[in-house]
Amino acid sequence: QHAAFRTDLSVLLDQVGTGKESLSFMKRRIRRLAQQWATAANRLDAKLQQRWRDQKKILIHVGFLTEESGDVFSPKVLKGGPLGEMVQWADILTALHVLGHNLKISMSVKELQGFLGVPPGRGSCPLTGPLPFDLIYTDYHGLQQMKQHMGLSLKKHKCHVRVIDTFGTEPAYNHEEYATLHGYRTNWGYWNLNARQYMTMFPHTPDNSFMGFVSEELNETEKRSIQQNKVNNMAVVYGKEASMWKQGKEGFLQILHRYMEVHGTVYYETQRPPEVPAFVKNHGLLPQHELQQLLRKAKLFIGFGFPYEGPAPLEAIANGCIFLQPKFHPPHSSLNHEFFRGKPTSREVSSQHPYAEQYIGKPHVMTVDYNNSLEFDSAIREIMRTKVKPYLPYEYTCEGMLERVHAYIQHQDFCAPDPAFIPANLSKQGSAGGTRITGPLFVPLPNSTALGWASNVTAPPAWPPLSSLRLLVSQEGQSCVEACQSAGFICEPAHFRFINNKEALLEVQCEVVDSEINHILPAFSVVRQECGLQREPLLFSCAGHSPKYRRLCPCRDFRRGQVALCRNCL
Ligand code: UDP
Repeated sequence: QHAAFRTDLSVLLDQVGTGKESLSFMKRRIRRLAQQWATAANRLDAKLQQRWRDQKKILIHVGFLTEESGDVFSPKVLKGGPLGEMVQWADILTALHVLGHNLKISMSVKELQGFLGVPPGRGSCPLTGPLPFDLIYTDYHGLQQMKQHMGLSLKKHKCHVRVIDTFGTEPAYNHEEYATLHGYRTNWGYWNLNARQYMTMFPHTPDNSFMGFVSEELNETEKRSIQQNKVNNMAVVYGKEASMWKQGKEGFLQILHRYMEVHGTVYYETQRPPEVPAFVKNHGLLPQHELQQLLRKAKLFIGFGFPYEGPAPLEAIANGCIFLQPKFHPPHSSLNHEFFRGKPTSREVSSQHPYAEQYIGKPHVMTVDYNNSLEFDSAIREIMRTKVKPYLPYEYTCEGMLERVHAYIQHQDFCAPDPAFIPANLSKQGSAGGTRITGPLFVPLPNSTALGWASNVTAPPAWPPLSSLRLLVSQEGQSCVEACQSAGFICEPAHFRFINNKEALLEVQCEVVDSEINHILPAFSVVRQECGLQREPLLFSCAGHSPKYRRLCPCRDFRRGQVALCRNCL
């Protein structure tokens, strides 16, 4: 059946249910953005020109909101607790509904069992028949619950699962045996999924799929009126929980206060939290639409380093604020910071909000060293002088999210037998051809130069299409994430299977010697002067890097403002 766009959200609102603050928060959000979604649906509908879209049967099981997982989030909704996840789930539900799919929504293990048709009760009663869904969206908590209650059959059906995973999971952590043997074992990873089945909040690593969420979009009239009504010396602090204001914030808060009136939206019960200085005008935790109003007046939205990678900075920038945030030197990661410890990734977080830093940047975003009071002081003054327009990257608009989720649903297939090793017929292009990596005289490859692209390949239709592939060789110690990025591309893990073979590597002119199970491969070993292939497709990793290795990287082009999609991906 064809999936027809829906602009009426009342059925969805009924499905979400009631009785918890988290559900009320999500429903308020869905209602508030209803008009934006409807407009976006109409635009995307026109853009896709009546293209056939399969209607999918989709189960959405929000694990972290179930009582069985302890539901620690719901009681904190009105108390400054994390809201980013709820923002994202509300938007995922809406996007799937608007795209016209057939949804079942579960927020408890009982509902999960009911929808899956497994007998209620404890223990693992395997689902015996076919899976009654094409797709299951859940999170790590939900995955655990499905394992407990579907037993062995989860293994059989896991290609249908998509895991909403805020910070991302790298392939080395996802492969159970490899993680266990090589020190990548955490409490979360090791599900042996295709890493693209994990869907993140920001495009953190191309190894995962970027799901995202939306922020409110303004029309031209609103944008103009915002710019006219900006209060140049008004700052709002990013931090709705008092603990985010603790320790060492006095210094730069004082500097900030020298120039600007400082506002906060910190949750409090009866009196001002002691962490919040007296000169701060604290509004208490605000409902989302009131926060938007405050941001419309403010010139500056300032982060203190925590929370990491949340939605609020995008909302602030969309409302015409400049976002000022601390640079992390050295970067924070699961190796050196408590918050990330145990998360299935070694991604290095270079500032409070790397997406804002790397994808948006100046003039909307300033990332500075807060320990350097001169640098901080001059940033504040620069911000007061700078005029910016409200800005929202396309990928965070309702239309952008619908477009991306539509493409994933219609094209990503992790159930098809994995044609893991397909020789691509790489035709040489450009000047780099002919450079040898092996041989009596070692001639280093030009740094990150496009070597060629594939053509005439007889393989099942690939998505992203093979025409988007660019093969690069990274520098020593560099990951494919960085190598592709520095050449203006993005690493595309789906393309690894095309470059992981002797035929493709002959183009790079390295002698291919062996295949191993190692998340650095395919790569060129500088020490051994030879190329190694990957033997385990689950370990294809854009993130992997190692000294003395030059990675062979499958890069692809991308659409401006929609990094998840290549130019011919729609
Ligand atoms: N938010 C809110 N009221 C406030 C402060 C924040 O409703 O006073 C909302 C904000 O609109 C954003 C959400 O909280 O969408 C999550 O914000 P944040 O970036 O702090 O991420 P979190 O750590 O909560 O996931």
